[in-house]
Amino acid sequence: MPDYQAPLRDLRFVMDEMLDYPAHYARLPGGEEATPDVVSAILEEGARFAREVLLPLNQSGDQQGCLLEGGEVKAPKGFKEAYQQYVEGGWPSLAADPVHGGQGLPHSLAMVLNEMVCSTNLAWGMYPGLSHGAADALRHHGTDEQQATYLTKLVEGVWTGTMCLTEPHCGTDLGLIKTRAVPTADGAYEITGTKIFISAGEHDLAENIVHLVLAKLPDAPEGSKGISLFVVPKFLPDAEGNPGERNGVACGSLEHKMGIHGNATCVMNFDAARGFLVGPPNKGLACMFTMMNAARLGVGIQGLGLTEASFQNALAYARDRLQMRALSGPQAPEKPADPIIVHPDVRRMLLTQKAFAEGGRMLVLYTAQLLDIVEHGQDAAERERAETLLGLLTPIVKAFLTEVGFEATNEGVQVFGGHGFIQEWGMEQLVRDARITRLYEGTTGIQALDLLGRKVLMSQGESLKVFTKEIHKFCKAEEGNAELAEFVAPLAKLNAEWGELTMGIGMKAMNDREEVGAASVDYLMYSGYVTLGYLFARAAKQAREALAAGGEEAAFYEAKVKTARFYFQRLLPRTLAHARMIQAGAEPLMALTSEEFGLGFEI
Ligand SMILES: Cc1cc2nc3c(=O)[nH]c(=O)nc-3n(C[C@H](O)[C@H](O)[C@H](O)COP(=O)(O)OP(=O)(O)OC[C@H]3O[C@@H](n4cnc5c(N)ncnc54)[C@H](O)[C@@H]3O)c2cc1C
Repeated sequence: MPDYQAPLRDLRFVMDEMLDYPAHYARLPGGEEATPDVVSAILEEGARFAREVLLPLNQSGDQQGCLLEGGEVKAPKGFKEAYQQYVEGGWPSLAADPVHGGQGLPHSLAMVLNEMVCSTNLAWGMYPGLSHGAADALRHHGTDEQQATYLTKLVEGVWTGTMCLTEPHCGTDLGLIKTRAVPTADGAYEITGTKIFISAGEHDLAENIVHLVLAKLPDAPEGSKGISLFVVPKFLPDAEGNPGERNGVACGSLEHKMGIHGNATCVMNFDAARGFLVGPPNKGLACMFTMMNAARLGVGIQGLGLTEASFQNALAYARDRLQMRALSGPQAPEKPADPIIVHPDVRRMLLTQKAFAEGGRMLVLYTAQLLDIVEHGQDAAERERAETLLGLLTPIVKAFLTEVGFEATNEGVQVFGGHGFIQEWGMEQLVRDARITRLYEGTTGIQALDLLGRKVLMSQGESLKVFTKEIHKFCKAEEGNAELAEFVAPLAKLNAEWGELTMGIGMKAMNDREEVGAASVDYLMYSGYVTLGYLFARAAKQAREALAAGGEEAAFYEAKVKTARFYFQRLLPRTLAHARMIQAGAEPLMALTSEEFGLGFEI
């Protein structure tokens, strides 16, 4: 069975040393509760819960899957008990507002825990995971009554939430949804329609399930401007607020899928189910975006968590597995062969995983700090800046970390050789589980359009400039620092190129809108690599300073500098290819006619 140790030292490096979380928390209202002792206790207890409670259920959950019997879904053995422990431990309410029964700690702390959950049991993590988004949507857009009825229960974790958007004929293009909401005499609505692929749509972990559902009112305008958001509970709350009468919503079937077998992916049938409007009519998509933005960051963390899990196990295996001798001569002459970690190609795979795990962690924690400021910052200008950066980085966190997460888990299988393909080692499960992260919450293609089209070009490049200026300032400040030149010089060059590439696409797009779509995924990947480059340069600076100061942890800081060097020399050059592909433009993609695509065969 795979093992896992929460990367507490690396987390502390990023939180305390690189991003100065203690000072950040001290400035946030409520953040003063997050004292170093409290943070340590939460990290250590979270690490224990992930390793001792969630990890042992990961492979068995994958093998058992979920069971639908008489309309009720049973999650795999042990999932319900683990969820009870999670609720009793107060984990769901960690970062929620005390007004709704939360503990008011910063969001960033909850995101740190999320990484540990995703590393140890992604399928389980998706049961409470969706609740955060549902709670966010109700917190921002729900009425006082809806908040009192549903939000407190979601915060406590005694009820869980879902996000019901997708229908058989539409996922990306939600303007096409058919689910209907008909007003009733008492101000509620009857919701009728079929939603598919609903994560945690039905299960036995919690006493009630709160569905947030997109549907159309009878007089709604066509397309995405005619979508409204409704809260539809599985059991209608009784006068005391407890689960009462069964509502007209049920799980019709469970999907059989490639990964995350322990999570119930449900077809949900709404048959005149009683629902309540959340936010203004026809503004449902905007309200749902609140949920989706939180969920996108959450999915990025899934990519990170799986990368870390795969790396740890591949590393342990590579230190143990004996095959062949090192090219330069035996490294372990007392053994019949050398451990495979001596081979350059195995090191390439391990370092790729390590760099994406450490780089991804820096990106998540950097973004988490922005989220804290957006939610709780006191200074309006600082909040506005954080909001712009958060908007820019959210599609990068979601899509870049899941793309490289899939690569990293695949490399994990490769390090194990044929054994990686065999179930019992658990490495192939990580690949299967990682595959969905590139799809749900908006595919990589859709995140890329959001980044380039909405965030960058629609702001005339202004949002990007906020970030590239920050990078420029860092590069300028370190210009004369000979120890950092290997990082700062290439970073400054790429940072300037990022702006030029953006301008180039913007110019071409004025004549041909297809240029945006043609460049978008390469642009997103380019942006992701440069962003991690900036963070690795900062990490290297921090590590160099710690080394200069002396102390007992030289090996940790040396490793940080060497990993940054690997990233700059072996991963960052991928930007060259992405830049070339961006510059190739739309023509090579659009030249083929539909018939020419299929010449020689007919389907
Ligand atoms: C396991 C699982 C769990 C899920 N959980 C949930 C859930 O809890 N709630 C929920 O509502 N949904 C959920 N989904 C649905 C998921 O979010 C959608 O599958 C996803 O958004 C893609 O939609 P689609 O499958 O309809 O693909 P389509 O929208 O049909 O897209 C097909 C392909 O076309 C591309 N494409 C489409 N439009 C464009 C465009 N304009 N430009 C460029 N490329 C484009 C896409 O990127 C994709 O590659 C889940 C799905 C799965 C498999």
